[in-house]
Amino acid sequence: MTPVPFIDLAAMASEVWPEIEPDFLACLLDGRYIGGPAVTSFERDWAAYCGADHAVGVANGTDALQLSLTALGLGGGDEVVVPANTFIATAAAVVRAGASPRFADVSDDTLLMTPRTLAEAITSRTRAVIVVHLFGQIPDMTGLLAVARQAGITVIEDAAQAHGAEWDGRRAGSFGEAACFSFYPAKNLGAFGDAGAVVTSRPELADRIRSLANHGRSHGGSHYEHDRLGANSRLDALQAILLSAKLARLETWNERRIAVASRYRELLSRTEFAGSELKQTDVAPLARHVYHLFVVRVARRDSVRAELARRSIQTGVHYPVPCHLQPPLLRFADRPLPVAERAACELLSLPMFPHMTDGQVEFVCEALRDALRITTTRSALINVK
Ligand SMILES: *Cc1c(COP(=O)(O)O)cnc(C)c1O
Repeated sequence: MTPVPFIDLAAMASEVWPEIEPDFLACLLDGRYIGGPAVTSFERDWAAYCGADHAVGVANGTDALQLSLTALGLGGGDEVVVPANTFIATAAAVVRAGASPRFADVSDDTLLMTPRTLAEAITSRTRAVIVVHLFGQIPDMTGLLAVARQAGITVIEDAAQAHGAEWDGRRAGSFGEAACFSFYPAKNLGAFGDAGAVVTSRPELADRIRSLANHGRSHGGSHYEHDRLGANSRLDALQAILLSAKLARLETWNERRIAVASRYRELLSRTEFAGSELKQTDVAPLARHVYHLFVVRVARRDSVRAELARRSIQTGVHYPVPCHLQPPLLRFADRPLPVAERAACELLSLPMFPHMTDGQVEFVCEALRDALRITTTRSALINVK
């Protein structure tokens, strides 16, 4: 049995290496390793791709979120709504910025925040919302922006999983005051280490974030004069060279992810899965889902995963514990969030990467069908006893 990995980063690296090798060497010999022309050029291309005016390269996606919150003046005592089902960095950035996360439940169908769950979470202390485009899908932005406008709160996008995702023809990064991207290796656009960016169409906000990410230096100021206290969170030139080469392939790779997802959906909708307790997640008609992850829901998830692992298929769980129930965030949990809590026990991420073959998708679906039969039969026998 040939193993099916969860993701294949080396396949992407091999595709771009011949192209970037001379640029890597030129950069190494040039000696400008942090910032510089390669970074400026990637920032310009990345902003244009997202449909925004400015991009600021930073060290990672978590910093992108924290720096955006700080630059927008969000801090002490302010509440920022975040969905309960997201990577912990979304909520951690809020706490690190000195604000308090206020958790919102998610839709049972898309697993994303909805205008209703946002409205329910807003209090008199709420000043912002971080909308997370989880798994590669942008939630109902039309509705979310309307609720935020009505409440007078700022919208920030956590687009770490949504490079190239669209809502009603507009790309991730073009909706919020600021949009935060991660280029962690496994993301749809990944560096060969940690990297990130903030995208915005407000020039003064871009300047403030650039300064905060660079020890509080001002644009055009001297190296040792500081307008404010900042962090050290910058993008390296080598990462920018790699990201630019990968950006040229992002649309092709996203299209391939979408094709892999359609094949999964088609196979998983067949009669052999009827009555199997497998549930697919929905995609809104206005959304272009770019499938950072392909997530389904199953009962007895951990047994199903173990059966898949026995068949050499690597899977993931995003995420096994909702944010509000993580020990360091429990103090911000003030009410049950039933949809996110139930989903956390059922979510299963199947292998998904641009170089995945149709044969691999078929193999995973056959194995999943067998795994579901085995775990269902077993639990029925246990129940009889
Ligand atoms: C990856 C990720 C982040 C954090 O990005 P890093 O670059 O790892 O710091 C934040 N939010 C979400 C939803 C993510 O998937």
